[in-house]
Amino acid sequence: MRITVIGGGVGCARFVLGLREHVRRTGSDDTIDVVVNTGDDWWLSGLRIAPDHDSLLYALAGVNDTERGWGRAGESERVAAELAAWGTVPDWFTLGDLDLGTHIARTAWLRAGASVSEVYARLGSRWPLGATLHPATDAEIDTHVDTDDGSMHFQEWWVRHRSALPARGFTQRGIELAAPSAGARDAIANADVVLFAPSNPVVSIGPVLAVPGIRDLLSDSRAPIVGVSGIIDGSVVRGMADACLTAIGVETSARAVAEHYGARASGGILDGWLVDETDVAAADPLRALGITTRAVPLWMRDADSSAQLARDALALASGIAR
Ligand code: GDP
Ligand code: CA
Repeated sequence: MRITVIGGGVGCARFVLGLREHVRRTGSDDTIDVVVNTGDDWWLSGLRIAPDHDSLLYALAGVNDTERGWGRAGESERVAAELAAWGTVPDWFTLGDLDLGTHIARTAWLRAGASVSEVYARLGSRWPLGATLHPATDAEIDTHVDTDDGSMHFQEWWVRHRSALPARGFTQRGIELAAPSAGARDAIANADVVLFAPSNPVVSIGPVLAVPGIRDLLSDSRAPIVGVSGIIDGSVVRGMADACLTAIGVETSARAVAEHYGARASGGILDGWLVDETDVAAADPLRALGITTRAVPLWMRDADSSAQLARDALALASGIAR
C-alpha cells in the first residue's frame, strides 16, 4: 500500500514517525511519501532555508533535538556568533552550525541548477528515512503575512514577532504560476490512501493546497483522504496555529478546521477526519456534512501513542475506501 502524507514541519514529523513505526510493527511493505509545505522557506544571509523539510529530515533521520523540539541534536552556534558580529543575520533567528551545513549544501546545489525536488532527494539520501519527501512545488512561493505594519516574510512574523502582530492574511507571491512537483503529483495521484497530518491548517497545509493543481489531484484521487486534527479541545497542542486560524476567520476548534477543509463530496478535500475524544461532539455535525468523523486519542506522546494514531487514521481510511 502506498501512503501519502501532506503536511508541514514538526507536527507532521511526529505524525510520520508514528506512521513509520506502525508500518514497521505490521511488517508490511507499505511505503510512505510526504508532500511537504515549502511556504516557510526563505533566504537568509544568502542561504536558502527550508524549515519544514529540515524538521522532517532531521526527525526521520533521528538526528533532531528532541528536547528543544527543533533543529539538530548536539548543535553549536559558533558560526552564528560570527555572523552576528558581522551584523549579517537578525538576532531573532537561530542558525546552528550543523543546520548551516544543510543550508549551505542546499544553496550550493540550487545555485548549480538543481531543482528543489533534486535537493530533497540529495539531502534525503544521506540517512535511511523510511519515507520519501517531496516539495509541494519546485517554485519559490514563500509565505508573506499582511499586518497593519505592512507585509513581512512569514518567518519574521512567526519567529521575530511570535505571531503576536495581528495578521490580516497570508499570501504566497507568484503561486498562481506554480505547479505541483512531479514527486508530489505522483504521490497524490497514485496513493492508496492520503493522510493530512495535524499540521498548521493555514501556514503548513494552506500553501500546499494553494499550489494550482493540488486540489484537482486530490479530488480526482481514488484514495480515501483522511485528516487528523491538530486542535484538541479548542486549543493548539503545540505552537501558535490559533493566531493563523483567527487571521483567516476560522475558529480554533477541530470542527471548524474540518469545515474549513470541507467534505470532498462537496468540493472540499476530506472524506474522513479524526478528532480527539474530548471533541466527540464534533462528530455528528461533521458527518452530516459528509465527513466521516471518529474520536480517538490524538496526543502523540511517544512511539506507542503516535503509532496508534497512524493506525486509527488508516483504519478510518479503509472503512471509507471507495
Ligand atoms: P511546524 O511547521 O513545525 O509548525 O509544524 P506543523 O505545521 O507540521 O505542525 C504544527 C501543528 O502540529 C500544531 O498546530 C499542533 O497543533 C500540531 N501538533 C503538535 N503535536 C501534536 C500532537 O501530539 N497531536 C496532535 N493531534 N497535533 C499535534
Ligand atoms: Ca511550518
